[in-house]
Amino acid sequence: MAQDTQQMHTDILVVGAGIAGLQASLDLADQGYSVVLVERQPSIGGVMISLSKVFPTLDCASCITTPRMASAAHHPNISLLTYTEVESVARNGDGFIAKLVKKPRFVEEDKCIGCRRCEEACSVFVPDEYDHGLGARKAISIPFTNAIPQYPVLDEESCILCGACAKACPTQCINFVQEPKHIEVKAVAVIMATGFELTPIDAKPQYGGAQYPNVLSPLQMERLLAPHGPFGAVLRPSDGKTPDSIAYVQCAGSRDLSLGVPYCSRVCCMYAIKQAMLLSGSLPIADITIYYMDIRAFGKGYEQFYQNAKAMGINFVKAKVARIREDDDHNLFLRIERQDTGSGPEEVQHDLVVLSLGMVPAWKPTSSGMIPIEADTDGFLRLPKSPLRPNLTTMEGVFAAGVATGPKDIVDAITDAGGAAMAAANYVERVRQAAPALAGATG
Ligand SMILES: Cc1cc2nc3c(=O)[nH]c(=O)nc-3n(C[C@H](O)[C@H](O)[C@H](O)COP(=O)(O)OP(=O)(O)OC[C@H]3O[C@@H](n4cnc5c(N)ncnc54)[C@H](O)[C@@H]3O)c2cc1C
Repeated sequence: MAQDTQQMHTDILVVGAGIAGLQASLDLADQGYSVVLVERQPSIGGVMISLSKVFPTLDCASCITTPRMASAAHHPNISLLTYTEVESVARNGDGFIAKLVKKPRFVEEDKCIGCRRCEEACSVFVPDEYDHGLGARKAISIPFTNAIPQYPVLDEESCILCGACAKACPTQCINFVQEPKHIEVKAVAVIMATGFELTPIDAKPQYGGAQYPNVLSPLQMERLLAPHGPFGAVLRPSDGKTPDSIAYVQCAGSRDLSLGVPYCSRVCCMYAIKQAMLLSGSLPIADITIYYMDIRAFGKGYEQFYQNAKAMGINFVKAKVARIREDDDHNLFLRIERQDTGSGPEEVQHDLVVLSLGMVPAWKPTSSGMIPIEADTDGFLRLPKSPLRPNLTTMEGVFAAGVATGPKDIVDAITDAGGAAMAAANYVERVRQAAPALAGATG
């Protein structure tokens, strides 16, 4: 063990600070358990913090996520480690030892006051990951307005070492030679809440994703619809025009054996309907069409949400989309085959197309030596005792929450996180009774 490795002790290590990891951490911390919450991104919040509004209530996503993020960051029983990778988690007697690496932000966090003067002074613009490439950020930047913590990250790849950020910093916290920091956490139990990614937008080349500028991913559309989105309005990326006609292609990354994603991702119908409703509010004269095979509105209030969308004038067309092409002005032409009328193939034009991509696991146990737990046939964490114990993984003492175990909406991810927290708390109590020396572990 390197001498400068920081040591931490905790009851529960939670990996992933999306809504599931945040909820599990808060539930445990409120009961008096100590938690180390590890997130590999510079900010906590996961996918939910980047959404515009949430179905079925149409609440503002960041208004309801930010207070949870702040509660987790300020909770006395939670130690937050952001921009930190988990290298390994191994069994150690009755508990676990996790080896973590905190990546350098090239900013000394204990001195930084989050004033953003470094960001203002920086002259280098690069595509903004938070806006999925639709906007730009500086080479040194705080990832987004309500990021927690409010520390910037200096992006090594793009920095031109001009020193403008260091000159502008009032607290001399820019450190161009900062090294990764090694941390070892001893924990009694572990919760994996590692969430999801979208299926790649270019997985079906016939749809032109990543090739045609006006074919968007659903997370790009979330950013266009968000109050602090990249353009401040819904505009076509190719020419900045307001779109008059927008199409959704359902099942563009799920229920497709050829992509290795044979399962239904469960949320795509609902997020497409939600975005269509929000679009009809912000672009009242635009035509919005959803091309679908079947609509799966499975949750409480979801069928009514779907019926409301139909009543608002959103077009639902039961059709297969074979391919998409663009003309010289980047207008899009969809070759469709209607399933309801039985008419032959036809071509329809739209200004903007959103591909309803599916969910795949963000962290894949099979391709990582991080922790020896098993994946199911779809690549999500295997739950050998499901349905009766839906948070138990294949390793005793390691629990799972949220989309890490399979596609879920926010309500189900939060409910699942509560279950994982309860299962982990029970486990910690059992271990403590068997080995009282582990009692009172602190962060
Ligand atoms: C376009 C779109 C719109 C949606 N809209 C809605 C909606 O309106 N209503 C609704 O109910 N649901 C919606 N959803 C679903 C919702 O986003 C998910 O249910 C929710 O985000 C799941 O939360 P999670 O915490 O499980 O995963 P995530 O949000 O993915 O969080 C997982 C976290 O773990 C981190 N992580 C991953 N691997 C590691 C690792 N190895 N080490 C450390 N950290 C790691 C990630 O960086 C991430 O921060 C939508 C989904 C999409 C794609």
